[in-house]
Amino acid sequence: MTTSVKIYPCPKCQGGIEIESVNCGIFRHIEELSTKAQDPHASQEKCEKGVANGAVLGCGAAFKVVPKADGELELVLCGYDT
Ligand SMILES: [Zn+2]
Repeated sequence: MTTSVKIYPCPKCQGGIEIESVNCGIFRHIEELSTKAQDPHASQEKCEKGVANGAVLGCGAAFKVVPKADGELELVLCGYDT
């Protein structure tokens, strides 16, 4: 498992997402503007609210990260129930 930060395109908005460590593989494309915090399990409501009121960077998409055979990562949109 590598710990180097790589930038991947968001599967929804194509914006760059920093992925430092994969952990459980679930992410949200949000970053709190004030704290730079990322909550990979934020609720759909929290994501949509944050995007709507401009409190976060990103589009709020829920996605999972799937390691590919060549060591790269594939980002796949998923539901907010994870
Ligand atoms: Zn996005």
